[in-house]
Amino acid sequence: MTTSTNTSQTATHSLAHLNVLISGASVAGPALALWLARYGARVTVLEKAPALREGGFAVDFRGEVHRTVLRRMGIWDEVHRRQTHMGRQTIVEADDQERVDLPAFLMSGDVEIFRGELSKILYERTKDRVEYVFGDSVASLTEDSEGIDVTFDHGAPRRFDLVVGADGLHSHTRRLVFGDESQYLRFLGYYVAGFGVPNHLGLDRTARIYSEPGRSLMVSNYDGDPARAGVGLVFASERLDYDRHDLGQQKEILADRFAGLGWTHAATALEGLESAGDLYFDAIAQIHVDRLSQGRVVLLGDAGYGATMGGIGTGTALVCAYVLAGELAAARGDHRVGFAAYEAEIRAYAKGCQKTSGNAGPFLAPATEKKIRSRDRMYRMLSSRFLAGFFKKLTEKAASDLTLKDYARQPAADYASLNRQP
Ligand SMILES: Cc1cc2nc3c(=O)[nH]c(=O)nc-3n(C[C@H](O)[C@H](O)[C@H](O)COP(=O)(O)OP(=O)(O)OC[C@H]3O[C@@H](n4cnc5c(N)ncnc54)[C@H](O)[C@@H]3O)c2cc1C
Repeated sequence: MTTSTNTSQTATHSLAHLNVLISGASVAGPALALWLARYGARVTVLEKAPALREGGFAVDFRGEVHRTVLRRMGIWDEVHRRQTHMGRQTIVEADDQERVDLPAFLMSGDVEIFRGELSKILYERTKDRVEYVFGDSVASLTEDSEGIDVTFDHGAPRRFDLVVGADGLHSHTRRLVFGDESQYLRFLGYYVAGFGVPNHLGLDRTARIYSEPGRSLMVSNYDGDPARAGVGLVFASERLDYDRHDLGQQKEILADRFAGLGWTHAATALEGLESAGDLYFDAIAQIHVDRLSQGRVVLLGDAGYGATMGGIGTGTALVCAYVLAGELAAARGDHRVGFAAYEAEIRAYAKGCQKTSGNAGPFLAPATEKKIRSRDRMYRMLSSRFLAGFFKKLTEKAASDLTLKDYARQPAADYASLNRQP
């Protein structure tokens, strides 16, 4: 299909008459807030956590569409300044002997940054023009022809024109409006976890990956902090019944699943698990909804088409936030038109990106020793100098498969104000 940007222009209009509530202040929420504020809308971002959440693995951007959106958001330079500078990632044997060197672009894209850092950049860029409310959650949504009444767990009731669910894979907004998560979450047979540890292995912006049938451990050191490393764990599993808010229980599951791992540095890497305060643990799963909007409520980012790991979820969230705001502005704030256009623009794109997440588990934790060996052979070949260009293109394909409209090129007089950075 088509690749990357074109000059397709769309007239956009001020959204000064719109009052929008966005649930979720991680990546998708603040990115949309940035664009809506530029179009003049009044925006409130609601976050359940008491403060902006830190933590999470590094997330990456790849290909021309991601690059263009980062530039148009005005965060290109800052993302590059704060990137991880991750270098080669090496698949190792149990005795730590190096087996395959993977090129940095495979797992780190063109530019990689910690999710928490990206979230901070977006928050900093928007906080003066957007209202942020932390430590609260939507309790109910009641829509009529003129707007939507919202009650909260703690705050006083308020009325908005639109509500955006940007509250992640386990979206609360989606549950309230579309129904229970079990209808939408497709489990892919793996779990993923990540947490920080001291850099005992003395890594320098490199990673080591060890796989055994059905489980894998990766340790990485990133730019800026020679003393710290990140541990990533992936394991194949049947669906587990656990409390998503109980970190102790999740640590027990991980300790159990990774007991006796054969890598010579496994015990050292796993030492930090018990005391980890920044544990991320989730199923590798995809979200599939029939429609992204219902009335005045629309889903954005992981809430609408999430894919946990390997699904380029962060880049997709930024691209789709740009499209949602642009289509709303093109529709002069008419949500029926704007939401339908948003869905038509990004549906196939988001699905394509999501699909790539199906590879993450089998790539990191192949089911058998034979599959591990054939993975290694294939990636050794793809990483060779001869095939590296082709391989890079392959890893960017889904992320680049969108013809991006240039919403900001509007003929109206306030073009300059649209491009003003919050
Ligand atoms: C702390 C954290 C760590 C992460 N670590 C990784 C990782 O290591 N690897 C990976 O692949 N992906 C990770 N992710 C997911 C990744 O950020 C997303 O896949 C991607 O960036 C798209 O982001 P999103 O904004 O759509 O969803 P998310 O990043 O999941 O953000 C959703 C936000 O909504 C908030 N929220 C949840 N419920 C409510 C509610 N009821 N009311 C208001 N707010 C609510 C959450 O606290 C969160 O801030 C992490 C997400 C978070 C929040």
